[in-house]
Amino acid sequence: MNKKLIVGNWKMNGSLAANEALIQAVRAGLPAQAACDVAVAVPSPYLAQVQGLVAGSGIDVAAQDVSQQEVGAYTGEVAASMLRDFGVRYVLVGHSERRQLHGESDTAVAEKAQRALAAGLTPIVCVGETLAEREAGQTEAVVRRQLAAVIHLNGRCISEVVVAYEPVWAIGTGRTATPAQAQDVHAALRAQLAAASTHASAMRLLYGGSMNAANAAQLLAEQDIDGGLVGGASLKAPDFLSIIAAAQ
Ligand code: PGA
Repeated sequence: MNKKLIVGNWKMNGSLAANEALIQAVRAGLPAQAACDVAVAVPSPYLAQVQGLVAGSGIDVAAQDVSQQEVGAYTGEVAASMLRDFGVRYVLVGHSERRQLHGESDTAVAEKAQRALAAGLTPIVCVGETLAEREAGQTEAVVRRQLAAVIHLNGRCISEVVVAYEPVWAIGTGRTATPAQAQDVHAALRAQLAAASTHASAMRLLYGGSMNAANAAQLLAEQDIDGGLVGGASLKAPDFLSIIAAAQ
């Protein structure tokens, strides 16, 4: 069993005051020796603030996206080296909201992972099928294609990434994949990684999509589920703490 990783994805939520209250409440409820690793993925303007708020708590800071370019005339983009400057440890790449709303291709996602790795960040590569794709029996083909692009571009460095399986139909819908559905996909992803890396068994595969205080323990008990990427429930300290407690 790998040490689990629970990542809160705040998405485009927060304010200076709300962030402070949330982190203080999470810190107050966090056991001195949490059995899992914990991170929060915050909007870019708050990276420095949250870095200060989590100091000494063991909570890591993650960014929600990164540029596929290194430096230069890319208005609005944030470079991996800039995230690194702010002590960021992880960065989400290829979240389905980026893929769907911003047209990010598999190749762009793979390039973002590459930039993150080159800057010393751990990319959390998100993959997942839509409802139509699941109903058409294409789940495995879709996630394999999404992961293949990242494996292809990043070669041996693939063992340094975290993968998050997030079925699009489960994100923000209150409809969670069953533990068995999630485990099936995680096992397929693990097998795909094993063909590319001798470290596949030690890589962390997170589940995301309406994970909450009530369903986390069952999901996290599955063999190939090494943590969670938690959206809505990460904005409420008691819920986020319950999920952390379930990740033993
Ligand atoms: P959710 O979001 O937990 O609110 O479904 C998960 C995510 O999008 O990472």
